Amino acid sequence: MRVTDQQILEAIKKVLSEDTIIHSQKELLEKVKNKLSINKGIQVSAERIRKVAKRYGVKVQVHSRKGKEIKICPFCGKDLQNIMSQDLFGRATTIGKMCKNCRFEIGLGRSPARYIFRR
Ligand SMILES: [Zn+2]
Repeated sequence: MRVTDQQILEAIKKVLSEDTIIHSQKELLEKVKNKLSINKGIQVSAERIRKVAKRYGVKVQVHSRKGKEIKICPFCGKDLQNIMSQDLFGRATTIGKMCKNCRFEIGLGRSPARYIFRR
C-alpha cells in the first residue's frame, strides 16, 4: 500500500510530540512505522521519511564522517554545488558542497553519517 506524504508527516508529528528529539534515521523510521501500523503492509523507506521531514519543516541536523563524497542532496535529490573559498595564497579552493535548493551543506570529503530530528 502506498502511503501519502501527508500520512507520513502526521506520523512524524505524533512521534515528535512524544519525543523532542530522535537520534537517528533508523529510530525515526521504526517509530513512524509504528504510528502507521494501523494501515497494514505499509511500505515506507527511511529515505522517504527523511525527505518528508525536511520538506515540511522538521529540524534535521546532519552529522557527517569522512567518506565517499556525495553528489546529490540527501533531502531533495538536486545536484550539489561546490562551496568555494580562497586559501591563504588567494587561490580558489573547494571547501565543501551545498544544495542551492534546500541549503543542505557538507564538508569536502565527508558523507552523512547520522540524521538527528527535532520538533
Ligand atoms: Zn537539497
